[in-house]
Amino acid sequence: MYASSYNNSLVLCSLFVAILAAYTALNVSARIATAQRRVVGLWLAGGAFAMGVGTWSMHFTGMLAFHLPVPVGYDLTITFFSIGISVASSALALWLVSQNKLSRSKLIWGSLLIGTGVSAMHYTGMAAMRMKPGIRYSPSLFTLSILIAFFASGAGLWIAFYLRQCTTKVRLYRLGASVVIGVAILSMDYTGMAAAHFPVGSISGAAKYGVEPGWQAFLVIGVTLAVLSIASIVSLLDMRMESRTSIMAKSLAQANEELTYLALHDNLTKLPNRTLFEGRLSQAIENAEREQLTFSVMFMDLDGYKAVNDIFGHHVGDLLLIEVADRIRKRIRPEDTIARVGGDEFLLLMSEGDPEQAANIAHELVAAIGEPFDIEGDELRVSLSIGLAMYPSDGTTQHELLRNADAAMYHVKTQGRNAYHFFERSMNANVHEQLQLLHDLRLAIAHQEFILHYQPKFDVSDQSVIGAEALLRWMHPRRGMISPDDFIPLAEKTGLIVPIGEWVLNEACRQMAEWRQAGHSTWTMAVNLSSLQFDNIGLVETVRKTLERHSLDPSHLILEVTESTAMHDLEASMRILRQLADMGVHISIDDFGRGYSSLLYLKRLPANELKIDRGFVHDLVQDSGDAAIVSAIVSLGQKLNLKIVAEGVETLAQQEFLIHLGCNSLQGFLLGRPMPADMFLETVAVGACPSGVV
Ligand code: C2E
Ligand code: CA
Ligand code: CA
Repeated sequence: MYASSYNNSLVLCSLFVAILAAYTALNVSARIATAQRRVVGLWLAGGAFAMGVGTWSMHFTGMLAFHLPVPVGYDLTITFFSIGISVASSALALWLVSQNKLSRSKLIWGSLLIGTGVSAMHYTGMAAMRMKPGIRYSPSLFTLSILIAFFASGAGLWIAFYLRQCTTKVRLYRLGASVVIGVAILSMDYTGMAAAHFPVGSISGAAKYGVEPGWQAFLVIGVTLAVLSIASIVSLLDMRMESRTSIMAKSLAQANEELTYLALHDNLTKLPNRTLFEGRLSQAIENAEREQLTFSVMFMDLDGYKAVNDIFGHHVGDLLLIEVADRIRKRIRPEDTIARVGGDEFLLLMSEGDPEQAANIAHELVAAIGEPFDIEGDELRVSLSIGLAMYPSDGTTQHELLRNADAAMYHVKTQGRNAYHFFERSMNANVHEQLQLLHDLRLAIAHQEFILHYQPKFDVSDQSVIGAEALLRWMHPRRGMISPDDFIPLAEKTGLIVPIGEWVLNEACRQMAEWRQAGHSTWTMAVNLSSLQFDNIGLVETVRKTLERHSLDPSHLILEVTESTAMHDLEASMRILRQLADMGVHISIDDFGRGYSSLLYLKRLPANELKIDRGFVHDLVQDSGDAAIVSAIVSLGQKLNLKIVAEGVETLAQQEFLIHLGCNSLQGFLLGRPMPADMFLETVAVGACPSGVV
């Protein structure tokens, strides 16, 4: 046998080429896994070429490092054939790695095929020397080289598959893996070479007509350079694209997540919104239908929230809502959905199908919200009204369930609030009634269905009538007389209160002018203003024109605004009230004591009169607390130079008490009920009130 030797620097060179080829392959396989469908083919072809040529050139460099004492050449056709095998098995490897799943059988078959490919490339490459007589292979080393080829291919496939994902340290892992794969393939190659024995006297049949040794070095260096440059270009592009796509993908995913969250949640309380709620509700319905389950839906609305918002401003109102949401959240189970669906409206979807359990939770919620809230040092009180609808007894569709829970909630509102109630069939009539009422209300002015009643006000000192408060009545063609409490909220909700209010102002002024002409020149006329009218920019102009129209002195008109209306947006209120006061119109603060306003604010309002809320007057005699409040209001009013009016005087005892406390004027059923204008004149003018005792 010939003694063979290795050129060490070429061995190193072949190791370097092997690692580079493996590294390229790993990079390319990652690209294939994440590339778009239409470029997958391109990546696959380019990758297979680079990897195939790389592996082959590793093998060829190894052959060049191997030194025989006779001249050696390589048959070109066989050499190209071995390159072809290398490229084909590389293509197979890349294709396998780019699949979604690498099953065990695919891994085994893949390793066998690729291992065969690598071995075939190696031994075909050896055959390109066309040794005569033929190379003798040692069976054990030959088998070992084939086994190494299988295992190296398997390990390579497996590593490449798991390193496809772009994680943060992937570049480092890839480099490590390339070394492992490179060394494995190289050891296969050198084991294969070690298996080859060349009998003394054998010659290379390709030495004369094959590729010259000078060529060999040139070719290998060229190919190695090609692989190198392809590898670096690929990995450079890859690196850039990978990081760019991963950054983009990450920020896209994040933006998507945020958008989805925003689209499905309420910004303020972070509770789910109506869209999310309705999604869950329809899921619950489907589920209940399939599995014959029951569940409940609650419609909740805060009582008194508007007043808090009006008096303390939106900032405090917002904080209150957050606290309310918190209290509710703490009392429901994680599987239930609570959503904020309007200003102070919430919906609760409860998987609880037992009415008794649902009632317990509703009860707990009402109690929890009824407890005072401490918002930035202010103690605030609101309450909760809940309507309950059960699936399937109160509805089987989303629309039905929500409508009926709403109707039940509305029922609670009309029954005094701060409670819960289950839906009952009769409640739906209420909703229809409201709709009908709204329809009629729109036509009421045109049909001249409104009239004013007048309630007399009396001076405490000389018991004379000092004027009247105009109170609106709706003479409904079918239902008869409707009191303002029953339609003004509806008129306010729909904005109809503005034209209705203008009608009231005009009619009251017209009446006042008539009475003045009849000789009652000292009387004043009080007209109620709703907060919506107060917010209307045309108010001051409307008042001025109306007074002019009836040639009425402004001092004969008193405008009553409730405490909460006046305190809402204090600066704006002051501006409007100041304009009215400058005109000479008198201002009365109605329902005083019911709201939360700080008495200090009162000083800044250009008001002439305070009307103590009739709620305090009602319990005055029995309740010492109310007496203390009235007494405080009276003394404060006196200090601020305001006239104090007590309304809702129903008993002699109340009358005496109020006179004793120092009120300036009185108004109430005891002294005179609201009545039509002609009756007012008849009874009051002759000094004989229907129940007058003054
Ligand atoms: P308000 O301004 O506090 O008017 C006084 C209400 O107390 C009137 O009810 C009157 O009938 C009632 N009242 C008077 N004396 C007594 C009494 O001794 N005992 C009891 N229990 N009640 C008494 P009414 O007329 O039903 O009006 C209710 C509310 O409707 C008014 O409360 C006012 O806020 C509003 N309102 C009435 N007319 C108008 C109007 O033209 N425009 C606006 N915006 N609101 C109006
Ligand atoms: Ca009033
Ligand atoms: Ca009042």
